[in-house]
Formats: sequence, C-alpha cells, structure tokens
Amino acid sequence: MEAFRINGERLWQSLMEMARIGATPRGGVCRVALTDVDRQGRDLFIRWAREAGCEVEIDQMGNIFARRPSTDNALPPVLTGSHLDTQPTGGKFDGVYGVLAGLEVIRTLNDHHYATRHPVEVVVWTNEEGSRFAPSMVASGVFAGEFPLDYGLSRTDLNGVTLGQELDRLGYAGLRACGGQPLHAYFEAHIEQGPILEAERRVIGVVQGLQGQRWFDCTVQGMESHAGTTPMPRRRDALLGAMHMVQAVQAAALAQAPYGVGTVGQLLVQAMAEAVRAALDRLGDLGLTGTLQEIWYAPPTPFHPDCIAAVRRAAEHLQFPHMDMISGAGHDAKYLAQVCPSAMIFIPCKDGISHNEIEDATPEDVAAGCNVLLQAILEKAGA
Ligand SMILES: [Zn+2]
Repeated sequence: MEAFRINGERLWQSLMEMARIGATPRGGVCRVALTDVDRQGRDLFIRWAREAGCEVEIDQMGNIFARRPSTDNALPPVLTGSHLDTQPTGGKFDGVYGVLAGLEVIRTLNDHHYATRHPVEVVVWTNEEGSRFAPSMVASGVFAGEFPLDYGLSRTDLNGVTLGQELDRLGYAGLRACGGQPLHAYFEAHIEQGPILEAERRVIGVVQGLQGQRWFDCTVQGMESHAGTTPMPRRRDALLGAMHMVQAVQAAALAQAPYGVGTVGQLLVQAMAEAVRAALDRLGDLGLTGTLQEIWYAPPTPFHPDCIAAVRRAAEHLQFPHMDMISGAGHDAKYLAQVCPSAMIFIPCKDGISHNEIEDATPEDVAAGCNVLLQAILEKAGA
C-alpha cells in the first residue's frame, strides 16, 4: 500500500464542474447519451485527460480511453471508469463518479511522479443508461463481444436516429476497434444506488458481483360469470389466482433474503423461479389454469476474487468501515467481467436514491471510494 492519498477537493470540484453540463433546475443532470450536452461532457473529460498527460483514443462505439503511460507500455492496462451519460432526470454521481474517480487517480499518480508497471487507463463507456438507445450498457457489451458492432451502431432512438449516426454527427465515431484489447484488470467505482451502506453506516461496499435477473410474463385464466348470481363454489376468479401468484413472488423473495428480491413480473435466483412455478401449478386446486413464460434472463455476474480482495484490502488498510455486497443494478462491469478480472467499489448515496435529480453523496464518501480505487489500481498496476 502506498502512503499517498487522492485530492478529495479536486475530485469534488471536477464532479461539480461536470454536473453543470446538463444541469437541471432541481439540482440534477440531464446528459442523455450522444446529445449535444453529452458531447460537451465528453469534450471536457478529454481536455482534462490530456491536461493530465494521457493519450486519448476513441473506439468505433464512441468509448473514450485515456491512457497514462507506464514503465512497460507493452503490458495490458489496468482499466477503470464508468459512464458520463445520465437518465433524463439523473443525478450528479451515477456513472460520472467512476469516470472522474479514475481521472483523479491519474492526477494523484502524476502529483507523486509515480510510475506504474502496467499502464492505467480511464474509460468512458457510451450509452450505459439505455434511456435513449436500448439496451443499456450496449457499448461495453460490444467491447466484451456480447453484441456485434453492427448491432450496437444500429440501435435507434424514438425518432429513428441510430447510435452510429449520432456518433458521426458528434465526431465521436472513433477508429480504434471496439474490443479485442487485452486488459489486466477492471475496477469500477459507483454510488450504491440503494440504501444498504447508509443504513449499515459503512463507507465502502466491496461488490461481489451483479445479481442475475429473470423476467416472466404470467397469465392466469379463470371464467367470467355473473357477479351476483354465481354461487361462490362455482366461481373461477382469475384475479384471486393472480393474488396467489403475487403472494408467491413475495414469499419466494423473502425466503431468499437478503439477496433475493422480487416483484410481480420480475424474479431473481433459480430457486425462487421454481417456487413461483410450483405456485402456478397449485392454481389447479382453485379450478384455474395459468402460464408462465420467461421473457428475459440475465445470469448473475460474479466478480474476480483477486480484484474483490484488492478492493477489500484497500478498504481495510484505509480503515474505512466496509461490507461485502451484491449489486442490484446493472453496470458496465457486468460485461467487462467477461473479458478480464473485474470488481466494483460502492459508496453510499443519500437515502439510497439514484436515477433522480436529488441523487446525492458526501465529499468524504466520494473521496473514500476514490482512495480505495487508487490502492486497488496500484496493487494491480504494480510499481
Ligand atoms: Zn451508472
């Protein structure tokens, strides 16, 4: 572990300066992917990265890579970053924190004239939110080989404009191939977007992985009949069956606490899916039939034990109260975990609120997460 620390004030100022680009009257940020405002944010990041001595490259999906050279530039880089795009009524921290924390790590290494063995690279992933071009995390997905490049570039917004057209218009259609690049490790710092760290009074979430998700369409079939004249034993009330299904979802989630969560139409973890299927079978006792069609499944993404350990060691060394946790939200790290050892660092956000203009975090927690990122990167990048 190195004795030096990041400059928390500089990181906070950079976050606040970036938040002015697309600032909303209610204190939030609207920097939707590949709009003119998003371009301003990207331009500012690139200016800062060049001022910090980084070489900047843009790939075919518009992902931005800012590279700090090392003592052995043939080695694969340690990559860190996140996204600059926001929801239409987003906050000042979601995504941008991971990008600017990475930049602050590079600025800190510069301050101390510290040479790493592996290059350190900060990445800005295009269109993480997916609020303009579905699906979310599409550019890190192309990078990881989850989607073909053509698929990524042909995503359209509600006006029929493609992601590729917007990259061309904004001058962000880069030449570097998207993906195929060897990486030594990937770390992503992010606000938790949930209430657990705050409630547990912990500063650092050592993220073990991203939870899987299952989405179902469920149909319950009863029989319509006269509400006043049909005797109770003869009724086939579909709504009653649906109520049993809703309760089964709730019971299945509670039985898998704390990591299992569920709501009607959205289920997680295999055992819970089985419990819901069994409940559907039992509807036969009520004289009902039903169908349950799985419409989407995203498997859980475990992070790499070495990277998780590096984050935990850093939090312990810096004496930050920390806890292991699972991410309920999707992040670019989901796809990066498919191509290199990856992990995430969470910091608390006020009242667990995110994707909202009132999203908030404290300067102390922001600095703490960045210091953990610095130590984790130093461990992987080597001296
Ligand atoms: Zn995010």
